[in-house]
Amino acid sequence: MYDHILVPIAIDHGEGTQQALKIAAQLLSEGGKITALTVVEPVPGFIANELPEGQVEKTMTDVLAALKGEIGDVDGIEPHVVHGHPGRTIVDYAVDNGAGCIVIASHKPGLSDYFLGSTAARVVRHAPCAVHVVR
Ligand code: ADP
Repeated sequence: MYDHILVPIAIDHGEGTQQALKIAAQLLSEGGKITALTVVEPVPGFIANELPEGQVEKTMTDVLAALKGEIGDVDGIEPHVVHGHPGRTIVDYAVDNGAGCIVIASHKPGLSDYFLGSTAARVVRHAPCAVHVVR
């Protein structure tokens, strides 16, 4: 159905990740690709200056390893880690990479007081493509 599906993944959000990946696989056209994207908020400059050299790069490598762990042993899913504000960056990534659909969880597991979390709400409002919200 879609040639490129973006699945934003917040590390440690629990079982919603597997559910989102499963749905993405069902919505994917034959030969299509799934991108799993984790956005890391940038450290403010005044803190970054105090960090040991290479720490920011190491964090990105650690997050990439954690993302691969969350995805598990599934073929055909490309993991990516980028810096930015999560809501904005997910939408920008979808625009820049021609995603036809974003599959996103509505919340951290166990949170049901709000209809949508803030990241999911921003993605639903601003995405240029279809958004499938996993409740
Ligand atoms: P909550 O406030 O309950 O955590 P969010 O809207 O922040 O709700 O999270 C819902 C979903 O948004 C997550 O399951 C994930 O798909 C996506 N998301 C949130 N933060 C990030 C992030 N830093 N990187 C990638 N995806 C994210």
